[in-house]
Amino acid sequence: MPEPAHHADVVIVGAGVSGLSAAHQLIRAGVTTVILEAAPYVGGRMSTEKVDGFRLDRIGQLLSTSYPELRHTPGLDALALRPFAPGLLVHSEGQHHRAAEFIGAPGPRRARGALHAARALASAPLVPRPARTAARTPSGTAPGRALRTSRPPARSTPLGSALDQARLGAALARLAATPVRRLLARPELPAARALSARGLPTRTIEGFLRPLLSALLCDPDLTTSSRCADLALHAFARGRLCLPEGGADVLPELLAAALPPGTVRTGVRVTAVAANRVMTAEHGELTCRGVLLATDARAAAELLPGLRVPSFHPVTVVHHAVPEPPLAEPALLLDADRRGPVAHTAVVSHVDPTRAPAGRFLVSSTVLGPPPDDLDRTVLAHLAALYGTPTDRWELLAAHHTREAVPAMPPPHDLRRPVRLLSGLYVCGDHRDTSTVQGALHSGRRAARAVLADLGIEPTHTEDQLPTAA
Ligand SMILES: Cc1cc2nc3c(=O)[nH]c(=O)nc-3n(C[C@H](O)[C@H](O)[C@H](O)COP(=O)(O)OP(=O)(O)OC[C@H]3O[C@@H](n4cnc5c(N)ncnc54)[C@H](O)[C@@H]3O)c2cc1C
Repeated sequence: MPEPAHHADVVIVGAGVSGLSAAHQLIRAGVTTVILEAAPYVGGRMSTEKVDGFRLDRIGQLLSTSYPELRHTPGLDALALRPFAPGLLVHSEGQHHRAAEFIGAPGPRRARGALHAARALASAPLVPRPARTAARTPSGTAPGRALRTSRPPARSTPLGSALDQARLGAALARLAATPVRRLLARPELPAARALSARGLPTRTIEGFLRPLLSALLCDPDLTTSSRCADLALHAFARGRLCLPEGGADVLPELLAAALPPGTVRTGVRVTAVAANRVMTAEHGELTCRGVLLATDARAAAELLPGLRVPSFHPVTVVHHAVPEPPLAEPALLLDADRRGPVAHTAVVSHVDPTRAPAGRFLVSSTVLGPPPDDLDRTVLAHLAALYGTPTDRWELLAAHHTREAVPAMPPPHDLRRPVRLLSGLYVCGDHRDTSTVQGALHSGRRAARAVLADLGIEPTHTEDQLPTAA
């Protein structure tokens, strides 16, 4: 008998969320499983750096409470999601506009909510709340200390008319209520072209939908397939944008902690794979009945030449410690004007107080596309305009640049790229599904199912036709 350390039914290469999700499905079905991870920690791209008591995500992590896999993946029951509240602010023409109330449940209630929201949106643009509302914000602020907010940017131009807002609200309500399979049956175009064909006013598209979709897809030019864009908006309209409490790495760490001890072996780089064995740099060979590659797309193609490597959207996340929070609310601020590098930003310590030490404030901002050479200077200048406050006393904590952050999804995009290459050899990861945490988790579930089918094992749980939220 081979030593357990050198044999498992299935070896998974990579302990990102897709590999961890697959391991849960396999182990639940009684399949012995080992995950080999090259890094010294689990989570892959979902990592969080700890600096002076701040928790700094490598990724500009926007999750949606409506992602089905967050509810269905074992081990995530303890995951706390911190919603942006009231939701979104859009910075346009020197002003902040509230765009939060579109979010709600689908169906007639949702539609009524959208119309209500439309009316709210048509009213005066948002002015940051005065100090007395500070007590209602999360406790990232020092106890007993009034929140000072900056003055709003001076110029005042409405984002759109009441009618524009009503049409947008109704369009989102319809989208929320549309079944995913109908969304996927729509003609597929680059998202930017599809948006302009939807009959919405240009200012609604440019002032709200474009910045929102850019943030959700990490794609500033909206070259993404309109089907993926529809799925992203569908998830947005059905749930709330949120962050995992404690940092992005909490999600994979919860998944790993719920696996049997010894399942994940970190610090083990796989150098070659076949259907019944893997070779590692550090520990020789492991034999198995199946290998599941759960790496990023490029590493997968290095191990199995011939696998497609997509192009990628680069993303840079910049973290600043700030002496005073520039917004009173835990909202996500989107830039509609594109007069600087920042696509979206938030006082993250308002959204999730665990990410900053007591009495300190964390602003995290996301730059989409190639970053400028003088990143911190241009980001600070842009943030000063977005928040309407001086930023010269803001302290740079970290700037994380990931060149191959998010696999691009131009049309035609196969949302269900095959996960079974041949009996014994499988592949999963965000590059086989949608380029999101939801897509990565879902691809792991699909791959585990393919493995079980080849091993002649019935899944222990009913496989759902899980709607893909994004
Ligand atoms: C900057 C940035 C911003 C993002 N923003 C969002 C967002 O707002 N919302 C959202 O939903 N998603 C976002 N994403 C995408 C999301 O993070 C990914 O889709 C998801 O984490 C991918 O998980 P994965 O398991 O497919 O791959 P990965 O996380 O890449 O995991 C692959 C693992 O394989 C390991 N590995 C590679 N090669 C080997 C080898 N030879 N041997 C052993 N191990 C190996 C790697 O070390 C890694 O741990 C963002 C990503 C980035 C980088």
